Amino acid sequence: MDPRDPGSATWQDRRMTETGDGHERHGDEHERQDTHEDTGRDTDRDVREAGHRAAREQAIERAWRDLVATARRSAADGLVVGTSGNVSVRVGDLVLVTPSGVPYDRLTPEDTVAVDLDGRQVIGRLKPTSELPMHLEVYRNADAGAVVHTHAVHATAVSTLVPELPLIHYMAADFGGPVRVAPYAMYGTDALAENMVRALRGRTGCLLQNHGTVTHAATLDKAYDRTAQLEWMCRLWLTASSVPGHAPTLLSRQQVRDVEQRLKGYGQPG
Ligand SMILES: [Zn+2]
Repeated sequence: MDPRDPGSATWQDRRMTETGDGHERHGDEHERQDTHEDTGRDTDRDVREAGHRAAREQAIERAWRDLVATARRSAADGLVVGTSGNVSVRVGDLVLVTPSGVPYDRLTPEDTVAVDLDGRQVIGRLKPTSELPMHLEVYRNADAGAVVHTHAVHATAVSTLVPELPLIHYMAADFGGPVRVAPYAMYGTDALAENMVRALRGRTGCLLQNHGTVTHAATLDKAYDRTAQLEWMCRLWLTASSVPGHAPTLLSRQQVRDVEQRLKGYGQPG
């Protein structure tokens, strides 16, 4: 099932309804302005604030729709099994995050879960993911707009074999260098979040030993692409390493740094 399809009509309907409400509210404000001229300035401010609130609500609604689509995609692409991964996206000072233990195909617009950067729940009744400490630590320590956590099988396999993913491919440059493995700690704990932050220093992704992956980026799409790329690189290394009698050639740190510069837009022809 394409997650964007059946849901999209509902989202569209809901947005249109809200726009309708917004116009009605404006009408009310004008009426009040006519009858209470001395409070005109307050009314203008009310209208402005109502406008800001409506824009913020729309941004949250859009972000939730994208978050649910990304979470469903991670299950459809086989990067998570069941509800084993989680996704978050930042909207201003709020973090929208997948709830704990609810299958992604059952999530509706009404299930929006948002917390502030201290983890206090601001929107929703469903409990946020148990990996919330990890998501919040990423936002506190990096300039991230979205975080994706999965239990992707090849990446998790690599996390049990080495302290960092060997430089098997130049796409390591997109992560800021060799992808490290954060030492094991129990899921959902602050200890795991701390280990992850250390492994993420100067990187946009890491592996969690005997657990899975974490990536972040400015947008959900980019964070998701990074996770898929990381899983692919891990699969590549496992494949190359499993040929009897051969060991894969690896790139040097300098070769990967050169690619990093190129990805940043340096060294392009012309
Ligand atoms: Zn996990």
